[in-house]
Amino acid sequence: MNIHEYQAKQILDDFGVPTPHAEVASTAAEAKEIAARIGRRVVVKAQVHAGGRGKVGGVKLVNTPEEAEQVAASLLGSRLVTNQTGANGVPVEKVMIAEALDIKDELYISIVIDGDIGAPVLMASTEGGMEIEEVAEYSPEKIFRVAGDPLIGLTTYHARDIALALEVPAGALRATTKLITDLYRVFIENDCSLVEINPLVITQDDQIIALDAKINLEDDALFRHPELAKLRDSNQLDPLEQRADKADLAYVKLEGGRVGCMVNGAGLAMATMDIANAAGAPPANFLDIGGSADQGQIEEAFKIIMADDDVEMILVNLFAGIARSDVVAEGIVAAAKETNATLPIVVAMRGTNAEKGIKILAGSGLNITGAPDLAGATVAIKQKLQEMGGSN
Ligand code: ADP
Ligand code: MG
Repeated sequence: MNIHEYQAKQILDDFGVPTPHAEVASTAAEAKEIAARIGRRVVVKAQVHAGGRGKVGGVKLVNTPEEAEQVAASLLGSRLVTNQTGANGVPVEKVMIAEALDIKDELYISIVIDGDIGAPVLMASTEGGMEIEEVAEYSPEKIFRVAGDPLIGLTTYHARDIALALEVPAGALRATTKLITDLYRVFIENDCSLVEINPLVITQDDQIIALDAKINLEDDALFRHPELAKLRDSNQLDPLEQRADKADLAYVKLEGGRVGCMVNGAGLAMATMDIANAAGAPPANFLDIGGSADQGQIEEAFKIIMADDDVEMILVNLFAGIARSDVVAEGIVAAAKETNATLPIVVAMRGTNAEKGIKILAGSGLNITGAPDLAGATVAIKQKLQEMGGSN
């Protein structure tokens, strides 16, 4: 789960990681008040679940409370499009007003789980402020990596090594070592999947401060942190992803697709998308209904696919074990009837009650083609696309 910068900053504050003085506002008047209270130059920062705000006017330096009010007024209620959002952008419902710091140097530090070694890995670079993907591509030697030990944690000498690699001034070395140690505790104690500070800055008076903060929380561990679970902001998801989130379905919209996919199991879903792509039918979404979806979830999954304007036809690929084919089939028929669906539907079904499922679909009076396997399904899709013609 993704959270906002102001929420991440609160967590950092709680763990003793230095951040700029800042408050969050939902109205322009509040923004003005906060800027006046801070009483010096401030930055107004759009609070959205995406980085890259600086480049598109989502982070603005202002000199007066009146200016802060104006910038807040133009940001609040708008949608911010950055290189990390889709073309529709994400809604700005809050802005953070932070004291402007006099920056000497912008650095980078992050912690993620490295699946290969099964441990948290710290990545640090003197090249902060720009995207780490770019640093990784053009100057990979500038990224310093250290793994934390799952049992021992991060040792002080490791933290110090990282501080040295960041080439901080001698006077800031102790504070940086402490900041890195505290950041590691933030990661572990909150069950994060990502903590990223970009930039971590050295100020003109050699203070080390986390200027930006991005934290992702591990969904599967959220039950251990009820107070963190409350930080969820579904409004940042696109409307269809929001619906899927509520129905507990794994759904991701894909740009440029034509075929809506409904599959059970993430691995099967990915394989299905690859094969659809290879057949010249780019998938419009990833959708995993899971192993034990009930009829309500299946109906909702189908409606979500149907609600996507890019979808010209639907491919269902089901390997039925726990989720029975006849239940899925009835879900599809019910949802198709309710939405007056006329799109062609291609279904590959195997496993528990597959024959029963295909019979239900065939007897539904809908535009459904059954296929014995995925290869057969792709042939059917190609045929349908050809019949529809012209829309390439
Ligand atoms: P994003 O990563 O979404 O672009 P950041 O918070 O990293 O947003 O801000 C972008 C840039 O704006 C930073 O690299 C920094 O140069 C500047 N900036 C952000 N906050 C402040 C601040 N409090 N004081 C001075 N400069 C800031
Ligand atoms: Mg940033």
